[in-house]
Amino acid sequence: MNDATLTGVETRTSSPICIKRDREFQSINVRGLFPAGEGAGYAGGIMSAAIDGIKVAEAMALSLNGVEQD
Ligand SMILES: Cc1cc2nc3c(=O)[nH]c(=O)nc-3n(C[C@H](O)[C@H](O)[C@H](O)COP(=O)(O)OP(=O)(O)OC[C@H]3O[C@@H](n4cnc5c(N)ncnc54)[C@H](O)[C@@H]3O)c2cc1C
Repeated sequence: MNDATLTGVETRTSSPICIKRDREFQSINVRGLFPAGEGAGYAGGIMSAAIDGIKVAEAMALSLNGVEQD
């Protein structure tokens, strides 16, 4: 129809799960596993995924160097 309006809707679905982690960013039941980003339930876009990646990378570096976090 000439008067039809076609609307494109952008939708986003976020991860339906969240892999729980402790304050050292490690899984609460699998030591050495650092859940991060969208799939693990900690981000919902490019910026939040990037920032979570930085935080987790820093936590991993501290862990690998044997530094305990407060
Ligand atoms: C079409 C589309 C448009 C989007 N537009 C926007 C937007 O405009 N703005 C915005 O903020 N966000 C947007 N997003 C969301 C954004 O892209 C994501 O939130 C972000 O990329 C998540 O980053 P991530 O690093 O957590 O995950 P991902 O970018 O998905 O990275 C996961 C990585 O893990 C790898 N991987 C998976 N399984 C394994 C495995 N078993 N072994 C090894 N590697 C594995 C994958 O290959 C991938 O490289 C869009 C997403 C889509 C799909």
